[in-house]
Amino acid sequence: MVVMKFGGTSVADRAAIERLIGIVRAERQAAIQPESRDWRGPIVVVSALGGATDRFLGVAAEAGAGDVEGAKENTRALRARHIEVAGVITDTAERAAVEAHLHREFDELERIAGALGVLREVSPRWLDAIAAVGELASSRIVAAALSSHGLAASWVDARRVMVTDREHTAALPQFPETRAALAAQVDPLLAARRVPVIGGFVGASRDGITTTLGRGGSDYSAAIVGACLGASEIQIWTDVDGMLTADPRVISGVQVVPHLSFAEASELAYFGAKVLHPATIQPAVSENIPVKILNSRRPFDAPGTLITRDRPPTRKPLTAVASKTGVTVVDITSTRMLMAHGFLQRIFDVFERFKTSVDVVTTSEVSVSVTIDDRRHLPEIISTLEEVAEVTREDDMAIICAVGEGLQNDPTFVSELLHAIGDVPIRMVSQAAARRNITFVIRAGDLPTTLTRVHERFFTHAGFPAEDARPVERSL
Ligand code: ASP
Ligand code: MG
Repeated sequence: MVVMKFGGTSVADRAAIERLIGIVRAERQAAIQPESRDWRGPIVVVSALGGATDRFLGVAAEAGAGDVEGAKENTRALRARHIEVAGVITDTAERAAVEAHLHREFDELERIAGALGVLREVSPRWLDAIAAVGELASSRIVAAALSSHGLAASWVDARRVMVTDREHTAALPQFPETRAALAAQVDPLLAARRVPVIGGFVGASRDGITTTLGRGGSDYSAAIVGACLGASEIQIWTDVDGMLTADPRVISGVQVVPHLSFAEASELAYFGAKVLHPATIQPAVSENIPVKILNSRRPFDAPGTLITRDRPPTRKPLTAVASKTGVTVVDITSTRMLMAHGFLQRIFDVFERFKTSVDVVTTSEVSVSVTIDDRRHLPEIISTLEEVAEVTREDDMAIICAVGEGLQNDPTFVSELLHAIGDVPIRMVSQAAARRNITFVIRAGDLPTTLTRVHERFFTHAGFPAEDARPVERSL
C-alpha cells in the first residue's frame, strides 16, 4: 500500500484539491487492478492549506502581544478561506457536516485567542493547539472531498494515531504506541477498502494533549505512517518536478534527478536543496521504503525523483550539485599551537559556545579554516579565538558541493572536476572519506560561472553515458 503525502501547495485551494482527487483516484485504481500485489490503500496524509500555518501562528503571536483584534481578524480570514475551500465537497450533506466542524474549530480558536490576549502569553502548548487546527481542518476537507467524488475515504484524527512525547513544537513520535494506534485505527479502514486521510504535522502526547512535530513536519508524519504500516512506497506530492541537478536560480538548463540514494539526498539537503529534508524520511529509509517526490501540477507527465536507501550503480560520477551563498570563511592560524593536542577542540568549543554551526572544515599544518553562515556572533567568536591565534574572515563566499555515489568509482573524476572549475580561485576543498561528495568554497561572485562549468561538463554535455546507455562496441 502506498502513502501519498500532499504538501500545502497541493491542497492550497479548490483547484488543487480537485487535482489531488484525480491523483488519488489513479492510485486507487492501480491498487485494485488484478496484477496489483496489494489492493489496500492508498493512505493520504495532508499538510495545512498552503500558507495557513504561518497565518495560524500569526494569530497566536498577535494574541500573545495583546492584539486581540488582529488575532480575530486573522481568524476570520482563515475561517472564510477554509469554508470557501470546503466548497470542493460536492455532496451537500457532507459539506454541511464539514462546515459545521470548521465553524466549531474556528469559534474555539477565537475564544482561545481572546483568552491568550488577556494573558499576553502564548506557551508552546498553545502554539501547538493553534497550529494543529490547520492540518485537522485540511484533512477533514480532503476526506469529505474524496468521498463526495466517489472515493470512499475516512478522516482519521491525527491526535489519536500519532503518539508523541511532550516536547511541544518539536515533539518526537513514540514508535511502539504510534504503530499500535495506527494498526487499531487505520488497518480496519484499509481492510474495508476505504482511503484513510490523516493530517500531517499533528500528534498528541500519551495523555491526549495536542502536539506538533515541528515546521514542515508533514513529510515526517507520512514517513512514520508508512514505516509503521509497512507501506510499499511513500509519495511526497509537491509543486516542483523533483530534486534538480543544480539550483535553477543560479544557472539554466538544470535537469530533474531521476534516482538518488538517501545518503546523496542528505548531502544535497545540507547545502541548500530545499525540496525535502531527508531527516524527515528517515523512518522510511530505515524500513527500506522507496520515497518519490512528485509534482501535483503535472501528475501524469513528470516522472519525479526516486529516493532509495541504495541505488543501482551508475557510470555517471555526479548526481547533483548543491550550492549556497552567504557563506563566511574564518581562517585561524597559529604556528605555535596548532599541532598541540586539544587545539581543534578549543577552536570548536568557541563556535559551540556561541551556538554557531560550522559547515566546511579544512586543516593544514598551521591553520584551520571553517565556513559558517550565521554571522550573528562572529565578532565575539573572532575576539575569543584571537586569544590563541590569528584570525581573518572573508565574507561573500559560496559553497559548491558536488554529490554522487559514482565519485567512488573512478579517481580521475576529481581531476575532471578541477579541470571544469578551471581558473576560478578555490578557497577551500574538502572530500569526505566516503567519497560521495566534494565541496569547494569559492567567491560568491564566481558561483554562476563555476556552477555552469561543472554542470555543463557533467550533466549537459554527453561527456558521460546516460544511466541506461550501453558501452559502444568498436570495430577495429
Ligand atoms: N503545515 C506545517 C508547516 O507549514 C507542516 C507541513 O506543511 O509540513 O510547517
Ligand atoms: Mg513541506
